[in-house]
Amino acid sequence: MTARVSVAVLGATGAVGQTFVRLLDRHPYFRIAEVGASPRSVGRSYREAATWREGELSDEIGELQVRACDPGAIRSRIVFSALDAEAALDVERCFAESGAIVLSNAKSYRMEPDVPLVIPEVNPGHLALLELQRERRGWSGGIVTNANCAVTVVAMALAPLHERFGVSTVFATTLQALSGAGYPGVSALDASSNIVPHIGGEEEKIEEELGKLLGTVGSDGAAHAGMVVSAHANRVPVVHGHTACLSVGFETEPSVEEVRAVLAEWRGAEVSRGLPTSPPDVSVLRAEADRPQPRRDADTGSGMSLVIGRVRPDPVLDVRLVAMAHNTVRGAAGGSVLNAEVMGRLGLLPDVEEGSW
Ligand code: NAP
Repeated sequence: MTARVSVAVLGATGAVGQTFVRLLDRHPYFRIAEVGASPRSVGRSYREAATWREGELSDEIGELQVRACDPGAIRSRIVFSALDAEAALDVERCFAESGAIVLSNAKSYRMEPDVPLVIPEVNPGHLALLELQRERRGWSGGIVTNANCAVTVVAMALAPLHERFGVSTVFATTLQALSGAGYPGVSALDASSNIVPHIGGEEEKIEEELGKLLGTVGSDGAAHAGMVVSAHANRVPVVHGHTACLSVGFETEPSVEEVRAVLAEWRGAEVSRGLPTSPPDVSVLRAEADRPQPRRDADTGSGMSLVIGRVRPDPVLDVRLVAMAHNTVRGAAGGSVLNAEVMGRLGLLPDVEEGSW
């Protein structure tokens, strides 16, 4: 690779948008050329519009002028979207129609049968849906989504187990970080020393997206895996890192040792390995009785590794375990960037030759 490819970040001022900016600043293949946000921010410098919250913001990006999220104002053909779902519905469609590839974090298109919902290590084969999407919708670009941040944790923990033993039933209780609600997010009075046992729409997302992620794709679109999922989603006073406590029933009856061995050996799909955002270890199995913990473990693999612990027998189903990952990195911006890297490698990005990465 010689020149870096120009990209845009939509919703660049928000919690996920800022994580995109942090991950893409000095990325070896991508260069942020444009940033977009709401009319409230348009025309201001990025430094002025975004209340920058983590680390140092480079001058190159801080001085970019925030543009309207419209293909007339933003010309990059690779677009990372951290938009609110409501705004994403029209904006992402307009960019896909205009020929851009949109890598979206919003829920708006995730469950459409012709839209890939992808975790790079789990189901990169679902990118084949892009062809069906273009055929059906007449778009010259396309939309590729990544999963909800809590689903990402559950799906990464279950993917290798489903492949090997067939997952039939899942009870998932999530303990989700405050940064998952964006900025300013949950009010301090609700968040401090407290647990809020409701996150609007989250349980449904966990129950629906998991089946699509672990399912197959065919000529009619995505076919869902048939497991039954029951989810309880809770907001907890943690800054970054979503935890999922899982009880799992299998079609076969693996021992706890077999489950541990599969989790320890899992490296994810080959096409997702060795890219700039791939973690050295996709999943890290901890032996200690009190791990994973978000404060200690969320930055494992620069926030891209899944950390698993407490794999033990379950008296109701077969096995239970605890899984945790960084929500705005692995569960959002980092997942999208890795999707884009995989797409570049497969020749699915504008201006990037197949196999050059
Ligand atoms: P956020 O902090 O509230 O940021 C929202 C962004 O969208 C801001 O940049 C905002 O710009 C922009 N925006 C809002 N309305 C707009 C409009 N009408 N036109 C153009 N831009 C508009 O939210 P977030 O937590 O980063 O989440 C962003 C998306 O990612 C959401 O769809 C969310 O569900 C999804 N997601 C979040 C997480 C997470 O852990 N936080 C994980 C996975 C997925 P202004 O600053 O100008 O208002």
